[in-house]
Amino acid sequence: MARTALILHGGAGARRERNYDAEVVHMRQVVEAMKARLDAGASAVDVAVEAVVMLEDSGLYVAGRGASPNLAGAYELDASLMDGASGKAGAVAALQGFRNPVVAARAVMDRTPHVMLAGEGAALFAHDQGLEPIGDEEAWFTRAGKGEDNHPPGGLSHGTVGCCVLDSEGRLAAATSTAGVFGKMPGRVGDTPIPAAGTWADDSAAVSCTGQGEYFIRVAAAARTAFGVAAGQSLAEAAQATIDRIGGLGGDGGLIALDREGNIAQPYNSQGMKRAWLTTDGEIGVQVFDQ
Ligand code: ASP
Repeated sequence: MARTALILHGGAGARRERNYDAEVVHMRQVVEAMKARLDAGASAVDVAVEAVVMLEDSGLYVAGRGASPNLAGAYELDASLMDGASGKAGAVAALQGFRNPVVAARAVMDRTPHVMLAGEGAALFAHDQGLEPIGDEEAWFTRAGKGEDNHPPGGLSHGTVGCCVLDSEGRLAAATSTAGVFGKMPGRVGDTPIPAAGTWADDSAAVSCTGQGEYFIRVAAAARTAFGVAAGQSLAEAAQATIDRIGGLGGDGGLIALDREGNIAQPYNSQGMKRAWLTTDGEIGVQVFDQ
């Protein structure tokens, strides 16, 4: 069987004082479900989106159902995905009223000539596409980030989900979805929906970022990592260099990355990062903190 691999994250806002048993169990379930999809020949793009839908719907992470509102009380969600084989990307920013922002991002990629739709236009498009709306927002959202929303340098506490996939045909894809940082201003957009900043996939690497998005935008974190691999760095070196650069600017967060050999990198400079992976040998791992 062809060698497939995957890594996902549930955000780099993890706090040592909090218990993540539910997330650990859930992330393993997502990897197991996606392993079955990859074994059945599913494409990297499909698996990246399906994994992120499971993460969004769980209500366990600060994305999809787990979102927290902005300072005005509105739930504005961001998501993007990129197909490394075609170089196509799709994104939505500050989307309100729909259950799965990553599905809206996929529709932008597949069914429009654009890469990103924002705000009201994104919501109109999601409606026209028949995507599932949220009825009662207060009943739907779980605010999963309670307990993660009181940290770090600069105050931009955060949580996000993402997934990078290598499929049986050697194609790479990445997808990322978030409610952004806690206490964000209305209209604030972070790195998550911006290809090159929060998400990237080409034929060298797939990358999904999580952290204080303002810093990830400033260094083009996801593309920088893939370009480092294309220029001859190992995935681990390129990924660590990106996080070091962000740390040097005072930023906090992490990223997950996968190259076309199926190597995995998962550096972060925050307290922890919820993540789980499937190696090319078929082994599954799940981790939140390093010790
Ligand atoms: N990067 C996301 C943002 O800034 C937040 C996160 O990853 O936790 O919107």
